[in-house]
Amino acid sequence: NYAVSIDTAHNDEFRVLYTDFNAMIDEIRERDAQLIRLATTDPLTGLANRRHAMEVMQTMVTRAFRKGESFGLAVFDVDFFKKINDQYGHPVGDIVLREVASRMAHLARDYELVARIGGEEFLVLCDNSDLETTHAIAERMRAEIEKTVIYYDATRTLSVTVSAGVYAAVPLTEETDPLLKIADDALYHAKKSGRNRVSTGART
Ligand code: GH3
Ligand code: MG
Ligand code: MG
Repeated sequence: NYAVSIDTAHNDEFRVLYTDFNAMIDEIRERDAQLIRLATTDPLTGLANRRHAMEVMQTMVTRAFRKGESFGLAVFDVDFFKKINDQYGHPVGDIVLREVASRMAHLARDYELVARIGGEEFLVLCDNSDLETTHAIAERMRAEIEKTVIYYDATRTLSVTVSAGVYAAVPLTEETDPLLKIADDALYHAKKSGRNRVSTGART
């Protein structure tokens, strides 16, 4: 347990030992925090990574299932992102991903987790959220990204749009995959019906 430190107020011959010990514990604590950050964070955007998102989703779905509460999720995918890379180059593509990530993170509230789960794919987990609320959050993010002017150097700008698939319900089981599948299908529908929109999924 690295949470404890020794009280250095003692004025005995072990005082130096206590201080050194505490410095060591501080370093271990810091390294621990750094390792956790590395394991759970996407380095490009600073968002939660896929693995961490899947863990958090399992926790949220399990709780929602047991409590009979609604759980919401939204899967986002940048529209025509390949074109951005082709036209402006991969580094500009990365700038776009960082900007999209930052806008989404900014709009998320405390009980939502935004993650980067693939190249240009993002997931928003909405704890204790019904379909109306989940849809509203996704729509707010979509609209914000659409109006965002992205500077890819000092003077030149571009903009992108995103499509999203949302779903929310009281889970019928503790499984997360079926929920992701429904949101993914809705995303596919959003793409097919013109992009830059949020589609709602349904159990089939
Ligand atoms: P759609 O509207 O149907 O989603 O079209 P799209 O072009 O976005 O879809 P597609 O899946 O064909 O393209 C995704 C592209 O994302 C392909 C890949 O080169 C690019 N990509 C994936 N990861 C990264 C990354 O980390 N950085 C950059 N710059 N590009 C990436
Ligand atoms: Mg994609
Ligand atoms: Mg895409």
